[in-house]
Amino acid sequence: MTISLNWDLDSIFAGSSQSKALKDFLDSFTHDLADFEAAELLAPLTDDTQVVWVETIQTLYELGAHLNQAGSFVGCLVSQNVKDDKALQLMAQIDQLGTRLGTLSTQFAAIAAEQADAAWTKLTTDTDLSSVAFNLNEERDLARQKMSLELETLANELAKDGYHAWDRLYGVMSGDKEVKFDDKPISLGQLQTKYEDDPDRTVRQRAFALFEESWKDIARPCALALNHQAGFRLTLYKHRGWDSVLQEPLQRNRFSAETLDAMWSVIDAKSAKLLDYFAAKAKLFGIEKLGWIDVSAPVGAVTKTFSFEDAANFVIDNIRTFNPNIADYCRIAIDQRWVESENRPGKRAGAYCTSLPLSKESRIFMTYNGSYNGMLTLAHELGHGYHSWVMRDLPYGARRYTMSVAETASTFNETLVRDASFNAATNDQERLSLMGTKLNDAAVFLMNIRARFDFERAFFEQRAKNNLSVDDLNELMVSAQKTAYKDGLADYHPLFWASKLHFYITRAPFYNFPYTFGYLFSNGVYAQALAEGPAFSDRYIALLRDTGSMNTEDLAKTHLGLDLTQPEFWETAVDRVLADVDEFVALVDKLN
Ligand SMILES: [Zn+2]
Repeated sequence: MTISLNWDLDSIFAGSSQSKALKDFLDSFTHDLADFEAAELLAPLTDDTQVVWVETIQTLYELGAHLNQAGSFVGCLVSQNVKDDKALQLMAQIDQLGTRLGTLSTQFAAIAAEQADAAWTKLTTDTDLSSVAFNLNEERDLARQKMSLELETLANELAKDGYHAWDRLYGVMSGDKEVKFDDKPISLGQLQTKYEDDPDRTVRQRAFALFEESWKDIARPCALALNHQAGFRLTLYKHRGWDSVLQEPLQRNRFSAETLDAMWSVIDAKSAKLLDYFAAKAKLFGIEKLGWIDVSAPVGAVTKTFSFEDAANFVIDNIRTFNPNIADYCRIAIDQRWVESENRPGKRAGAYCTSLPLSKESRIFMTYNGSYNGMLTLAHELGHGYHSWVMRDLPYGARRYTMSVAETASTFNETLVRDASFNAATNDQERLSLMGTKLNDAAVFLMNIRARFDFERAFFEQRAKNNLSVDDLNELMVSAQKTAYKDGLADYHPLFWASKLHFYITRAPFYNFPYTFGYLFSNGVYAQALAEGPAFSDRYIALLRDTGSMNTEDLAKTHLGLDLTQPEFWETAVDRVLADVDEFVALVDKLN
């Protein structure tokens, strides 16, 4: 059987964006939503009203699952053909329905916050809701820490044209900007790829100089956007009585400040090891010391290409020797055509995995180009798919997990396939390239993202007192980079705060650190899997299944027997990712 390069969407709703089944589904959803909106507000929670509360909460989850199903499907339609106007129209319709459902959920949480603890505990332990108690308690606790529903509603409405507008303004300023490089028009995003990835150092240098110059042009409005969105957040927190800017991001990621400190301390203590990697790379480039533009530049070369079928088989076969359960899932996903991989114009960029909660399936979107990285992307996305797969029979309210653990299964798969590729490599240039990519990831997660975090924290501290100028921000950025990179580079990137979109995402403050957390968490899990062999398979499933029902510390304690607030777990994880440094150095010495 040959493998299809196109996914099957018809088994979900037949007929693509013209689907009659989808139209009926959305009509019936809209009807149910309107009924729910028109229903009377919940009476105070007592023994007598408990049944109504249970029904109401279950309806809310039902509505959420249905909208998620439609939203994922339409997302797939738009991705496979970005010019599908009907699909775009459906997307806008679903967005609006989502806003209405969001308002109902917020209202519910606010009402829940007002109920007596005893009655609430009874509701979440004695009824069918016990399996989603974690999620319900989380929503209620959060509502309790906020202002009154009236004030929160007002703040939310004002945020649309205030807080979030800064984010959009930044998007327009940076997205519209076009420059000329080698006489060709080029976006700032493309220019960034040039200075980061071009194998020719002089091209990287020229691209970076132009990049900094271009951001300098719009640095003042960027600084304005950053100052004011931060100001909005600080004011909102003040009125809620929150004294730390990390409260919101930590809550969103379900772990404590103690755990975060433990992670950064271990990183700080151990990341100087990467300087050996930098030195070897500098030697390879024939320069004294790496500059900002050299850190992620490619080394060695993998010239092999793989058909999609070969890539899928390589991924599945190698995963099978390690964990047959994951391999079985990957086989199903490929054979049932849950993956769209064709390389053709008109598709959106990037790769993702989206779950369809009612079908209990996922769909993976990517554009496979035959490269080694394409194979890693496939392994990565199949990891996300596996994560949803093992949770598919859980109640909808127990399936929502956070960014901090979202990359566990994906990074796990990726690490496994990277290791297998390294073992299958046939020459030193390949080995150098594979190991270089791995260590580059380590530098990103342990140094680059750390610099972003330190910068943001310092920025908020100062912003509480006054606005920061472009020069202030540059200075803060370089100081954070020097600390994170252990003074290991010849130069730094002062305007990084302007060029990095992540600092401007108002919906996810401190956007980056969960990625470092997730990367190390997954590597820690992988280290334990290696130590335990096949016996780990069941525990791995149990851990993934609980990602929607536990905070991250409890997850690690229950399933790994480890305490994330202590350094040991982080030490094992960081040591694992730095284990390749010596081998990389030896390989460079051998080649030079
Ligand atoms: Zn991912």
